[in-house]
Amino acid sequence: MTFSIPFDNSYARLPDRFFSRQAPEPVSAPRLIALNRDLATELGITLPEDKDAIARIFAGNEITEGSEPLAQAYAGHQFGGWVPQLGDGRAVLLGEVLGQDGQRRDIQLKGAGRTPYSRSGDGRAWLGPVLREYILSEAMHALGIPTTRALAAVETGDIVLRETRLPGAVFTRVAASHIRVGSFQFFAAKQDVEALQILCDYAIARHYPQAEGPVGLIKAVIKAQAQLIAAWMGVGFIHGVMNTDNMTISGETIDYGPAAFLDTYHPEKVFSSIDQFGRYAFGNQPQIAVWNIAQLATSLLPLMPDRDAAIEELTEVVNGFSDVFNTAWEAVLRAKLGLAEPHEGDAALAFDLLARMAGGQADFTLTFRALSSDDPARARAYFTDPTRLDDWLAQWQARLAQEARTDEARITAMQAANPAFIPRNHRVEEVIQAALTGDYAPFHRLNEVLSRPFDAQAAHAAYQDPPEDHERVTRTFCGT
Ligand code: AMP
Ligand code: MG
Repeated sequence: MTFSIPFDNSYARLPDRFFSRQAPEPVSAPRLIALNRDLATELGITLPEDKDAIARIFAGNEITEGSEPLAQAYAGHQFGGWVPQLGDGRAVLLGEVLGQDGQRRDIQLKGAGRTPYSRSGDGRAWLGPVLREYILSEAMHALGIPTTRALAAVETGDIVLRETRLPGAVFTRVAASHIRVGSFQFFAAKQDVEALQILCDYAIARHYPQAEGPVGLIKAVIKAQAQLIAAWMGVGFIHGVMNTDNMTISGETIDYGPAAFLDTYHPEKVFSSIDQFGRYAFGNQPQIAVWNIAQLATSLLPLMPDRDAAIEELTEVVNGFSDVFNTAWEAVLRAKLGLAEPHEGDAALAFDLLARMAGGQADFTLTFRALSSDDPARARAYFTDPTRLDDWLAQWQARLAQEARTDEARITAMQAANPAFIPRNHRVEEVIQAALTGDYAPFHRLNEVLSRPFDAQAAHAAYQDPPEDHERVTRTFCGT
């Protein structure tokens, strides 16, 4: 056999109103840009030798045996505004596979053509956002952060109309599932309690088999999302569009539309061109997560017997998010500062550093990486006024003196917590511009560097550099 995906589909067995059966729409001239062979192997996929054959599969031109393509229905709050019907407007779930680790994963084509949920959209994606999602999601994975993965990217040979004519592309996304907060909202809004119960049971069985009922599910999602957002913030990641339809139940990062990494640190930083009021700013991400989880809790309310008692219980559970998040965030910051045992005052020490970094326009990644070296005072150079760091450095050194670990062990641990390489926005932009001229070498080179973010990689030191003024990316776009 030259090609097989061992599909084992469960979502397709759910009632009809969960999705619309929808085959991907073929494209003109599929050409393979990238294939994640390691991931394919993990998923038990057998690949043909022929690149064009691979491209046809991941463009949606050929349907593999066992695939039951469908577009999922969901709703969501976009920038706080309620949209009762969203759904996969340009994505098609091919099916699910059980990986070598026994975990069930979705394989989805994004940009696969129109579906019943497309509204006025064309169902397509252009090359830029496809490459962005490929780079960012694989970089996040290499950073150890839960995320959907990139299996393949294919050029379609078709033109996509945005503000200009752009080359089309299809992205193959792998996810623990595509169940979102908005999936629950979809049925809650229709007062379809039966479907809500089925979805709740399905999500628990698939992601949190130990969780009991809706309250157990919410608690599990709180824990997963609190840890996820702490991990994001630990690498300076801004999701940019944390609408309820872009928040997974699994706790994986999903949808990299306007996502970006901080260069200089500031908690109010926003990149997304459509986030006019800074709703999804870097430092707002925990508050938005709790807002989204409150929507999940509201959606699940009809499944609980006594409404008044349930409201009281769920309010308390949802309010518990901030404690879970603070614990996770403080653990991330302690690891970044090389503090193995928790001491009182550690969080204050970390927050003080962040405040100084904001005031001193310090590069987030370079500052922490310098602190992880055997000459931490090098970090001073990243502050507009280097003396801003001096008394903080002295306090940190005093705190380090209380640690049992050797400096050597601490430095090794810190270098595994503070990446040297992140997908800097100007590098991602550079890769997209080169790809538009047909040159994919920079794309492959960047992916290679980002696959080992914690290694020094001296030969690639330039990828650590922040942007020059003329390279700075100040705005990112959803690219829909
Ligand atoms: P996103 O901002 O990518 O999370 O998408 C929000 C909603 O818009 C989802 O329902 C998408 O499926 C839909 N959507 C985004 N882009 C397109 C497109 N080009 N064609 C059809 N639907 C789209
Ligand atoms: Mg989305």
